[in-house]
Amino acid sequence: MALSQTAKKRLAGRLRSQLEKKYGAQMPAHAEEPIDTLVLAILEGSDVARSRARKALNAIQKAFVDWNEVRVSPVAEIAGVIGAAGDSAYDKAASIRAALNDICRSKHKLSLVFLREESRTNARQYLNSLAGVDRRVSTAVMLLCLDVPVLPLDDPAARFFQRLGLLDADRPTQKARMQIENLLGKESLAALYMYVTEEARATCKEDSPDCASCLLRLECTYCKSTKARRRKPSGKSSSRKGARKTKSRTASRKTKK
Ligand code: SF4
Repeated sequence: MALSQTAKKRLAGRLRSQLEKKYGAQMPAHAEEPIDTLVLAILEGSDVARSRARKALNAIQKAFVDWNEVRVSPVAEIAGVIGAAGDSAYDKAASIRAALNDICRSKHKLSLVFLREESRTNARQYLNSLAGVDRRVSTAVMLLCLDVPVLPLDDPAARFFQRLGLLDADRPTQKARMQIENLLGKESLAALYMYVTEEARATCKEDSPDCASCLLRLECTYCKSTKARRRKPSGKSSSRKGARKTKSRTASRKTKK
Protein backbone atom coordinates (compact mmCIF):
# COMPACT_ATOMS: atom_id res chain seq x y z
CA MET A 1 0.00 0.00 0.00
CA ALA A 2 1.30 3.48 -0.89
CA LEU A 3 2.48 5.62 2.03
CA SER A 4 0.78 8.92 2.83
CA GLN A 5 2.69 12.13 2.11
CA THR A 6 3.29 12.62 5.86
CA ALA A 7 4.69 9.10 6.22
CA LYS A 8 6.93 9.68 3.18
CA LYS A 9 8.24 12.90 4.72
CA ARG A 10 9.05 11.12 7.99
CA LEU A 11 10.73 8.27 6.13
CA ALA A 12 12.74 10.75 4.03
CA GLY A 13 13.94 12.48 7.22
CA ARG A 14 15.19 9.21 8.73
CA LEU A 15 16.80 8.23 5.45
CA ARG A 16 18.54 11.60 5.12
CA SER A 17 20.23 11.36 8.53
CA GLN A 18 21.39 7.76 7.86
CA LEU A 19 22.84 8.60 4.44
CA GLU A 20 24.57 11.78 5.57
CA LYS A 21 26.19 9.86 8.44
CA LYS A 22 27.47 7.17 6.09
CA TYR A 23 28.27 9.05 2.86
CA GLY A 24 28.93 12.62 3.97
CA ALA A 25 32.66 11.97 4.21
CA GLN A 26 32.84 10.32 0.78
CA MET A 27 31.83 13.28 -1.35
CA PRO A 28 34.30 13.83 -4.18
CA ALA A 29 36.69 16.72 -3.62
CA HIS A 30 36.01 19.57 -6.01
CA ALA A 31 39.62 19.51 -7.07
CA GLU A 32 38.75 16.39 -9.08
CA GLU A 33 38.80 16.96 -12.84
CA PRO A 34 35.13 16.69 -13.94
CA ILE A 35 36.24 14.36 -16.78
CA ASP A 36 37.02 11.77 -14.08
CA THR A 37 33.46 12.10 -12.74
CA LEU A 38 32.03 11.91 -16.27
CA VAL A 39 33.99 8.74 -17.10
CA LEU A 40 33.05 7.22 -13.73
CA ALA A 41 29.35 7.87 -14.42
CA ILE A 42 29.66 6.25 -17.89
CA LEU A 43 31.35 3.23 -16.32
CA GLU A 44 28.53 2.89 -13.76
CA GLY A 45 25.89 2.82 -16.51
CA SER A 46 22.75 1.37 -15.02
CA ASP A 47 24.30 -1.91 -13.93
CA VAL A 48 27.56 -1.36 -12.07
CA ALA A 49 28.07 -0.34 -8.43
CA ARG A 50 30.17 2.74 -7.81
CA SER A 51 33.06 0.85 -6.17
CA ARG A 52 33.39 -1.46 -9.22
CA ALA A 53 33.24 1.50 -11.59
CA ARG A 54 35.89 3.27 -9.47
CA LYS A 55 38.18 0.22 -9.85
CA ALA A 56 37.69 0.33 -13.63
CA LEU A 57 38.48 4.06 -13.65
CA ASN A 58 41.68 3.39 -11.66
CA ALA A 59 42.60 0.65 -14.14
CA ILE A 60 42.22 3.08 -17.07
CA GLN A 61 44.30 5.72 -15.32
CA LYS A 62 47.00 3.14 -14.65
CA ALA A 63 47.02 1.64 -18.15
CA PHE A 64 47.06 4.92 -20.12
CA VAL A 65 49.32 7.93 -19.70
CA ASP A 66 46.44 10.45 -19.78
CA TRP A 67 42.94 11.03 -21.21
CA ASN A 68 44.47 11.91 -24.56
CA GLU A 69 45.99 8.45 -24.88
CA VAL A 70 42.58 6.95 -24.08
CA ARG A 71 41.02 9.20 -26.74
CA VAL A 72 43.32 7.91 -29.49
CA SER A 73 43.35 4.25 -28.44
CA PRO A 74 41.22 1.53 -30.08
CA VAL A 75 37.87 0.93 -28.35
CA ALA A 76 38.71 -2.77 -27.94
CA GLU A 77 41.87 -1.88 -26.01
CA ILE A 78 39.95 0.44 -23.63
CA ALA A 79 37.24 -2.22 -23.23
CA GLY A 80 39.92 -4.77 -22.33
CA VAL A 81 41.13 -2.53 -19.51
CA ILE A 82 37.63 -1.83 -18.11
CA GLY A 83 36.44 -5.40 -18.62
CA ALA A 84 35.29 -5.70 -15.00
CA ALA A 85 32.77 -2.88 -15.36
CA GLY A 86 29.72 -4.84 -16.43
CA ASP A 87 28.75 -6.80 -19.51
CA SER A 88 28.66 -3.71 -21.70
CA ALA A 89 32.38 -2.86 -21.41
CA TYR A 90 32.70 -2.36 -25.18
CA ASP A 91 29.78 0.10 -25.36
CA LYS A 92 31.10 1.99 -22.35
CA ALA A 93 34.59 2.17 -23.86
CA ALA A 94 33.09 3.53 -27.10
CA SER A 95 31.10 6.16 -25.14
CA ILE A 96 34.19 7.26 -23.18
CA ARG A 97 36.26 7.57 -26.34
CA ALA A 98 33.49 9.47 -28.17
CA ALA A 99 33.02 11.92 -25.28
CA LEU A 100 36.78 12.57 -25.04
CA ASN A 101 36.99 13.20 -28.77
CA ASP A 102 34.09 15.67 -28.61
CA ILE A 103 35.68 17.56 -25.70
CA CYS A 104 39.01 17.71 -27.53
CA ARG A 105 37.37 18.87 -30.77
CA SER A 106 35.35 21.62 -29.12
CA LYS A 107 37.84 22.88 -26.50
CA HIS A 108 41.21 21.88 -28.00
CA LYS A 109 42.20 20.34 -24.66
CA LEU A 110 41.00 17.58 -22.42
CA SER A 111 39.50 19.25 -19.37
CA LEU A 112 36.01 20.13 -18.15
CA VAL A 113 37.14 22.51 -15.40
CA PHE A 114 35.80 25.42 -17.48
CA LEU A 115 32.26 24.23 -16.72
CA ARG A 116 32.61 25.65 -13.19
CA GLU A 117 32.64 29.15 -14.69
CA GLU A 118 29.62 28.55 -16.94
CA SER A 119 25.95 29.13 -16.16
CA ARG A 120 23.99 26.00 -15.26
CA THR A 121 22.12 26.12 -18.54
CA ASN A 122 25.30 26.38 -20.62
CA ALA A 123 27.02 23.63 -18.62
CA ARG A 124 24.04 21.33 -19.03
CA GLN A 125 23.76 22.06 -22.76
CA TYR A 126 27.45 21.42 -23.31
CA LEU A 127 27.43 18.11 -21.42
CA ASN A 128 24.29 16.93 -23.20
CA SER A 129 25.86 17.78 -26.55
CA LEU A 130 28.74 15.33 -26.02
CA ALA A 131 28.61 12.01 -27.84
CA GLY A 132 28.34 9.06 -25.46
CA VAL A 133 26.87 11.19 -22.65
CA ASP A 134 23.26 10.56 -21.67
CA ARG A 135 21.12 12.58 -19.28
CA ARG A 136 22.03 10.47 -16.23
CA VAL A 137 25.76 11.03 -16.84
CA SER A 138 25.42 14.78 -17.40
CA THR A 139 23.23 15.08 -14.27
CA ALA A 140 25.86 13.23 -12.21
CA VAL A 141 28.54 15.72 -13.33
CA MET A 142 26.23 18.66 -12.55
CA LEU A 143 25.51 17.29 -9.07
CA LEU A 144 28.99 16.15 -8.02
CA CYS A 145 31.25 18.70 -9.75
CA LEU A 146 29.10 21.79 -10.13
CA ASP A 147 26.96 21.55 -6.97
CA VAL A 148 23.72 21.68 -8.94
CA PRO A 149 21.08 19.93 -6.80
CA VAL A 150 19.53 17.55 -9.34
CA LEU A 151 19.29 13.81 -8.89
CA PRO A 152 20.25 11.37 -11.67
CA LEU A 153 17.27 9.01 -11.68
CA ASP A 154 17.40 5.81 -13.75
CA ASP A 155 15.55 2.48 -13.62
CA PRO A 156 17.49 0.92 -10.72
CA ALA A 157 17.18 4.14 -8.69
CA ALA A 158 13.42 4.43 -9.32
CA ARG A 159 12.96 0.77 -8.33
CA PHE A 160 14.92 1.36 -5.13
CA PHE A 161 12.86 4.45 -4.16
CA GLN A 162 9.62 2.63 -4.91
CA ARG A 163 10.60 -0.32 -2.72
CA LEU A 164 11.66 2.02 0.05
CA GLY A 165 8.22 3.64 -0.06
CA LEU A 166 9.16 7.12 -1.31
CA LEU A 167 7.72 6.62 -4.83
CA ASP A 168 4.40 5.02 -5.73
CA ALA A 169 5.70 3.66 -9.06
CA ASP A 170 9.12 2.42 -10.19
CA ARG A 171 9.43 4.58 -13.29
CA PRO A 172 12.22 7.19 -13.62
CA THR A 173 10.02 10.08 -14.78
CA GLN A 174 10.70 13.77 -14.39
CA LYS A 175 7.81 13.95 -11.91
CA ALA A 176 9.32 11.11 -9.85
CA ARG A 177 12.69 12.86 -9.76
CA MET A 178 11.09 16.08 -8.49
CA GLN A 179 9.14 14.17 -5.84
CA ILE A 180 12.34 12.63 -4.49
CA GLU A 181 14.18 15.96 -4.56
CA ASN A 182 11.32 17.60 -2.63
CA LEU A 183 11.14 14.83 -0.06
CA LEU A 184 14.87 14.51 0.60
CA GLY A 185 15.86 18.16 0.30
CA LYS A 186 18.47 19.54 -2.08
CA GLU A 187 21.41 19.25 0.32
CA SER A 188 21.12 15.46 0.66
CA LEU A 189 21.11 14.61 -3.04
CA ALA A 190 24.85 13.94 -3.38
CA ALA A 191 24.78 11.49 -0.43
CA LEU A 192 21.69 9.90 -1.92
CA TYR A 193 23.38 9.51 -5.30
CA MET A 194 26.37 7.84 -3.60
CA TYR A 195 24.00 5.37 -1.95
CA VAL A 196 22.03 4.64 -5.09
CA THR A 197 25.12 4.06 -7.22
CA GLU A 198 26.77 1.87 -4.60
CA GLU A 199 24.66 -0.17 -2.24
CA ALA A 200 21.27 0.16 -3.89
CA ARG A 201 22.71 -1.41 -7.07
CA ALA A 202 24.70 -4.06 -5.25
CA THR A 203 21.99 -5.02 -2.73
CA CYS A 204 18.60 -3.86 -4.08
CA LYS A 205 18.78 -6.04 -7.20
CA GLU A 206 15.71 -6.41 -9.36
CA ASP A 207 15.13 -10.15 -8.80
CA SER A 208 16.86 -10.76 -5.49
CA PRO A 209 17.19 -7.78 -3.13
CA ASP A 210 19.59 -8.68 -0.31
CA CYS A 211 17.55 -6.98 2.42
CA ALA A 212 19.41 -8.74 5.24
CA SER A 213 22.60 -6.79 4.47
CA CYS A 214 20.92 -3.49 3.54
CA LEU A 215 21.59 -0.37 5.58
CA LEU A 216 17.94 0.69 5.12
CA ARG A 217 16.19 -2.57 5.99
CA LEU A 218 14.54 -1.10 9.12
CA GLU A 219 13.07 1.78 7.11
CA CYS A 220 12.13 -0.03 3.91
CA THR A 221 8.44 -0.61 3.14
CA TYR A 222 9.15 -3.55 0.78
CA CYS A 223 11.40 -5.29 3.32
CA LYS A 224 8.92 -4.82 6.17
CA SER A 225 5.98 -6.09 4.09
CA THR A 226 7.96 -9.13 2.87
CA LYS A 227 8.84 -10.03 6.47
CA ALA A 228 5.22 -9.57 7.54
CA ARG A 229 4.06 -11.86 4.72
CA ARG A 230 6.56 -14.50 5.82
CA ARG A 231 5.40 -14.30 9.44
CA LYS A 232 1.68 -14.60 8.64
CA PRO A 233 0.65 -18.12 7.57
CA SER A 234 -1.90 -17.93 4.78
CA GLY A 235 -5.37 -19.42 5.25
CA LYS A 236 -4.72 -21.79 2.34
CA SER A 237 -1.66 -23.45 3.87
CA SER A 238 -3.38 -23.72 7.33
CA SER A 239 -6.35 -25.45 5.77
CA ARG A 240 -3.99 -27.77 3.88
CA LYS A 241 -2.25 -28.63 7.17
CA GLY A 242 -5.68 -29.21 8.74
CA ALA A 243 -6.66 -31.49 5.86
CA ARG A 244 -3.39 -33.41 6.22
CA LYS A 245 -4.01 -33.90 9.98
CA THR A 246 -7.60 -35.14 9.39
CA LYS A 247 -6.36 -37.53 6.67
CA SER A 248 -3.65 -39.01 8.92
CA ARG A 249 -6.13 -39.37 11.83
CA THR A 250 -8.57 -41.25 9.54
CA ALA A 251 -5.74 -43.44 8.27
CA SER A 252 -4.60 -44.33 11.78
CA ARG A 253 -8.21 -45.15 12.81
CA LYS A 254 -8.48 -47.50 9.78
CA THR A 255 -5.19 -49.24 10.77
CA LYS A 256 -6.44 -49.82 14.35
CA LYS A 257 -9.67 -51.48 13.05
S1 SF4 B 1 15.74 -3.34 2.41
FE1 SF4 B 1 15.75 -4.64 0.56
S2 SF4 B 1 14.16 -3.84 -0.81
FE2 SF4 B 1 14.62 -2.26 0.77
S3 SF4 B 1 16.11 -0.92 -0.16
FE3 SF4 B 1 17.25 -2.44 1.00
S4 SF4 B 1 17.67 -4.13 -0.46
FE4 SF4 B 1 16.08 -2.81 -1.37
